[in-house]
Amino acid sequence: MDCLFCKIVAGEIPSTKVYEDEHVLAFHDINPIAPVHVLMIPKKHIASLLEIQPEDKELIGHLHLSLQKVAETMEVKDPGFRIVTNIGKHGQQTVFHLHYHLIGGRQLNWTM
Ligand code: C5P
Repeated sequence: MDCLFCKIVAGEIPSTKVYEDEHVLAFHDINPIAPVHVLMIPKKHIASLLEIQPEDKELIGHLHLSLQKVAETMEVKDPGFRIVTNIGKHGQQTVFHLHYHLIGGRQLNWTM
């Protein structure tokens, strides 16, 4: 499958990992918009939030719990951070493998 993030999961494209287990991977965004900008992805290829299926419920719950761990590791739990997932053209999604941006390390406003 010609998917950039599947290639990162497979180790064919390098990434700077922050967290990894059997089901999820978190790595530093190559083009950070804040001092902390990490992408969290499921290793399973899911194109976007709209493609999550009922059988993925446990995986998505696990991914969210893993985001808590990354927030702890990146020391942004307090004073806080933002989780974003872009969907489709108007959402400016550019990589069609589900990913959550964890953004923090500075004061954010609504336009970032
Ligand atoms: O939400 P969107 O699809 O636009 O986000 C894709 C993100 O993947 C971008 O923030 C981009 O910088 C990041 N990226 C990356 N490593 C790559 C290619 C893209 O971190 N090799």
